[in-house]
Amino acid sequence: MLLRRMMEHVRTQNWLAVFLDFIIVVVGVFIGIQVANWNNVRSDRAYERDILYRLHNEILTLETGREVPGLVQHNKALREFLPRLKAGLEDTEVDDLTCRGIIRSHVLNGPPDSLPALDELISSGRMKTLRNTDIRSFGSSFLQKREFGRELITEFDNDLRDLGREFPELMHIQIANDPETEQGSSQDFTCDLVGMRNNTAFQTALINNVDRFNGIMSYHFDFVGADLDALHQAVDQELRIQHIADDDTQEERL
Ligand SMILES: [Zn+2]
Repeated sequence: MLLRRMMEHVRTQNWLAVFLDFIIVVVGVFIGIQVANWNNVRSDRAYERDILYRLHNEILTLETGREVPGLVQHNKALREFLPRLKAGLEDTEVDDLTCRGIIRSHVLNGPPDSLPALDELISSGRMKTLRNTDIRSFGSSFLQKREFGRELITEFDNDLRDLGREFPELMHIQIANDPETEQGSSQDFTCDLVGMRNNTAFQTALINNVDRFNGIMSYHFDFVGADLDALHQAVDQELRIQHIADDDTQEERL
């Protein structure tokens, strides 16, 4: 319609009308582009808000998962056990938690480290949707360190020694009757501390396992954990969330 009218104005050499038609087209295109831009910005802002709340919930879940004491207790029990291998000591008892830790010291798991919202931002190429540079920076750093930590676990996993298989004379697991459990049985872990003190090959293998395990714990909790803390703080500031000090489960929106 507009094009037909414009052609008519050209044919009649009505240059003022041609100029006005041209202006109408340019303004129309400009307004169309602006509306599309505004819609994109609105959509980005809605996505940014949604992903930040999702990220915050995932951080809370992750922090709760990392506080589960199993891994830390396991690591602590093994580190405290090593000095007891010194020659000349007379105690012979190895508690159940420590003995279990020794037998399973070749099983290396890191603490939980998944933040699907961050993974989504990276895989969709929408990290720049986040306007807060601290969140982008700590988020990227967390992901980078986490990936290296995961590779470290895979690499260390190859070095770990299955002590129960290599030194069966020093440790074993037995099935015992236990009416208090649902299955009616439980596992009993037995370790020969005197035999362990006299076996340097065992001590070398255990120290190797404990060093690797301790290294992974330290990397994940201290190094990666620092970025997780900083990321949480930056997200809290952006969303104006304040955790009440005496009850971490409560939040107060400012
Ligand atoms: Zn928070």
